[in-house]
Amino acid sequence: IYILAIESSCDETAAAVVKNGREVLSNVISSQIDLHTLYGGVVPEIASRKHVENIDGVIKKALADADMTLEEMDAIGVTYGPGLVGALLVGLAEAKAIAYAAGKPLIGVHHIEGHICANYIQNKDFAPPYMALVVSGGHSHLVYVSDYGKYEIMGHTRDDAAGEAYDKVARAIGMGYPGGPKIDAAAKKGNPDAVKFPRVFLEEDSYDFSFSGLKSAVLNYVNKQKMMGAEIVPEDIAASFQQSVVEVLVSKTIKAAKAHGVKKIALAGGVASNSALRTRMQEACERNGFYLSVPAPILCTDNAAMIGCAAYYEYIAGVRDGLDLNANPSLKLGQR
Ligand code: ATP
Ligand code: MG
Ligand code: FE
Repeated sequence: IYILAIESSCDETAAAVVKNGREVLSNVISSQIDLHTLYGGVVPEIASRKHVENIDGVIKKALADADMTLEEMDAIGVTYGPGLVGALLVGLAEAKAIAYAAGKPLIGVHHIEGHICANYIQNKDFAPPYMALVVSGGHSHLVYVSDYGKYEIMGHTRDDAAGEAYDKVARAIGMGYPGGPKIDAAAKKGNPDAVKFPRVFLEEDSYDFSFSGLKSAVLNYVNKQKMMGAEIVPEDIAASFQQSVVEVLVSKTIKAAKAHGVKKIALAGGVASNSALRTRMQEACERNGFYLSVPAPILCTDNAAMIGCAAYYEYIAGVRDGLDLNANPSLKLGQR
């Protein structure tokens, strides 16, 4: 089964050809990061316009790289939510047009389901049940995956997403957008015990997250130091902030896996490419006898290969969408 997949939910215009869900024949990503960096974050209207400019070329390249034609595809998979509505609509309209013109089935994919499915591409034998930690620019979810396409949200962030916290803290210490990779790199040169930032675990039995308090603690620390004319060491702040985030993420994920009696954990989303999170989660998994799946960084951040994988499992489960499928910026995981 060959799937042409399209992703345009945020600031990456992406298309891919995926064979039988797990084999990536092409994976084309046109990032707009340089453009949005000028504004310190993603500007929705600019994102939509850029998607319109790029999408045809990206799809043509995906087919060419795979050395395949549209006629050879079995279905068109496309992200239809969550995300920026104007951005989603560009990919969705394109997918519908192609599906209609070529007479191919259309399959709408949940963006976060795509992030989770990146693990199936990375590790060919990886299969449910497992506990997934989804940490991206807009989401922080702990998800119990009992079977393909079956998701139970154990916990989610009550305020900022993990990636959002990285981006905001980076801005506060002058590292620019996107902050995640910059903090990751700076933290390697810093002391994680230099500043004692809070670990927010919330209630004893909660799998929810909260990162806005930590973000405020970092901002307050920076302001206080500046007011006192004291030196701030961005590398130390980055390392200390990151340690707080990673400790909470690892601890809650391990606890949730134990509670569900699963022996496998998967990381997903842009923050899953964070080196400290990968290392600490791997250590914790080894201590507990768990298997850890982590996608390569290029499969962690937004791409269409992961959407092609998710669409494949929908396809074999018989899911088909009509041309009336609409973009849903606040689509819930497991909802259709
Ligand atoms: P969502 O998937 O929730 O709709 P998104 O698609 O914008 O949001 P992703 O592309 O999955 O998010 O991830 C982008 C986020 O990942 C950004 O917040 C970025 O700072 C963060 N990120 C990327 N690399 C790293 C890293 N090495 N360490 C920490 N965070 C990172
Ligand atoms: Mg992005
Ligand atoms: Fe994403």
